[in-house]
Amino acid sequence: MRTITLINGDGIGPEISDAVVKIIEAAGLKIDWDLQTAGADVIEAEGVPLPERVLNSIKKNKIALKAPVTTPIGKGFRSVNVQLRKDLDLYANLRPCKNLPNIKTKFDNVDIVVVRENTEDLYAGIERQVDENTAESIKIITRNASERIAQFAFEYALKNNRKEVCCVTKANIMKLSDGLFLECFRKVAQNYTQINTREILVDNLCMQLVQNPRQFDVLVLPNLYGDIVSDLCAGLIGGLGVAQGANIGLDCAVFEPVHGSAPDIKGQNKANPTALLLSAIEMLRYIGENIYAERIEAALFKTLKSGICTCDLGGMASTTQFADAIIKNL
Ligand code: ATP
Repeated sequence: MRTITLINGDGIGPEISDAVVKIIEAAGLKIDWDLQTAGADVIEAEGVPLPERVLNSIKKNKIALKAPVTTPIGKGFRSVNVQLRKDLDLYANLRPCKNLPNIKTKFDNVDIVVVRENTEDLYAGIERQVDENTAESIKIITRNASERIAQFAFEYALKNNRKEVCCVTKANIMKLSDGLFLECFRKVAQNYTQINTREILVDNLCMQLVQNPRQFDVLVLPNLYGDIVSDLCAGLIGGLGVAQGANIGLDCAVFEPVHGSAPDIKGQNKANPTALLLSAIEMLRYIGENIYAERIEAALFKTLKSGICTCDLGGMASTTQFADAIIKNL
């Protein structure tokens, strides 16, 4: 039996984790979940929101499924998400955005994969107060990180029968930093002549995405643009409740939804577990459990097609009712 780390998070995290674990079990796949708590709730007992034991569990098991964890504001702790990505060197953030059955959105047939560099750029956290009226943040772009994310995007495109990888920058303004990211993309692209390439400025991309998103396939972006553009793409397919994600490194991978812990609807049994479920389905494919991935995905799609969904998508089902409907359709 495979052991997988489960970070059940806080806010709506435990509710959606319970739903997803129940669905995977009902599909017939036996997983030994190594439950690891993290976030604000463990600070009192353990002093930090991301204790060593959580990192050690992921390092040992190599794979984790993670529900959202709130980072306490203003207490001097780094974001749990940012720290996980840094400490485990999860350099690639993968966010597939594809229309789901029966979820009404402005455009049909959106099928975009956002590949976001996860370790540097303005997220390097190098900031200082220059004087009372001036603050400074430093944007770091390195050749090593830019080449490996470009390579990840092309490899993903190859393995998943994608036609094009598009590099997104603002290299006309940030000629050195974004210029280096683009230069690395062009260099790596030479090894993947079977995949088309495209280059676009991030402002133009945003306009094109809201006018004609179907023209895009795989996007590769530095960290900050990737963060913003992936939320935009989540909006194109029905919002945060359905937006899946994964953070992938050479040794470990952590699968998690794009959304946060949604404290406004915590404990009300109305959170949508779809984003975490889609992340789990992608995780199952990643570990080679394709049969179970297909089975669960088919049951999710059948449930949505039958008109059952949670209130963020205009439905009436509670989290548990939605999960039970999926289980019935397995
Ligand atoms: P963070 O900074 O951690 O990303 P946030 O407050 O910016 O958190 P979310 O926690 O993702 O963002 O919530 C944004 C809005 O989307 C909230 O109103 C929340 O209720 C809603 N939302 C997020 N996830 C879900 C979900 N799975 N199901 C239903 N509604 C959700």
